Amino acid sequence: MATKKKVSAKKPSSQNKSLPASNDTARKNSTRRDLAPERIAAILKALDEAYPDAVCALTHHTPWELLVATILSAQCTDVRVNMVTPELFRRFPTPAAMTKAKLPELEDLIRTTGFFRNKAKSIQGAAKKITEVFGGKVPETLEELITIPGAARKTANVVLGVSFGKAEGVVVDTHVFRIAHRLSLAQGDTAQKVEQELMQVLPKDRWIRFSHQVIHHGRQICIARKPKCDQCNLEQLCHSKDKTWSS
Ligand code: SF4
Repeated sequence: MATKKKVSAKKPSSQNKSLPASNDTARKNSTRRDLAPERIAAILKALDEAYPDAVCALTHHTPWELLVATILSAQCTDVRVNMVTPELFRRFPTPAAMTKAKLPELEDLIRTTGFFRNKAKSIQGAAKKITEVFGGKVPETLEELITIPGAARKTANVVLGVSFGKAEGVVVDTHVFRIAHRLSLAQGDTAQKVEQELMQVLPKDRWIRFSHQVIHHGRQICIARKPKCDQCNLEQLCHSKDKTWSS
């Protein structure tokens, strides 16, 4: 087994970023290598090996519950959301019931998830829209979902993928955004740009699973501040400047 050595976090090892700005041809060749089908397949295989059963960590029983839980998960951990939602859904189990909730009561129930005033307004707005426009059912298309208050593209992709098994996009949260860059799968500076890049390079039948797996990887191994590269089974495929170990 090869001995692993610690690498300096300051020393850039990314093939793309270490190239001179003027060397366009070398940069393009490097990007082509990063996005080669064999490399993508190897990354997906490694993710399958590490996270064969990765699923959405938000507890829910219906698309409506998942939509609400996803709205609550903004700037909050899934663990915290899962502590709040059982009582919330017991009191207001459907969009119609939620439209009748008193705002102060709703705010109180979700207070510990942070930004509770805005989230309460979004949840009530979503309940109203779903009740009045969509016959009480969470819609199953991206176009309709993104018209719902509090449901931007990421939330819509979560609901479509998890509740309806529809891959209309790739969920890009903070973990997917960071790791897509570390693995040189994307270079965009917004979640939307990274999503478009991932949609170009990943097979469509992997869009849903990829996000679940990468979110787990980001929570357990490829953490933001100090990734545990010595425990990462993608290490030999990764040339991120953030690497803390190199084999
Ligand atoms: S080697 Fe390190 S930086 Fe690269 S994916 Fe693994 S944990 Fe993340």
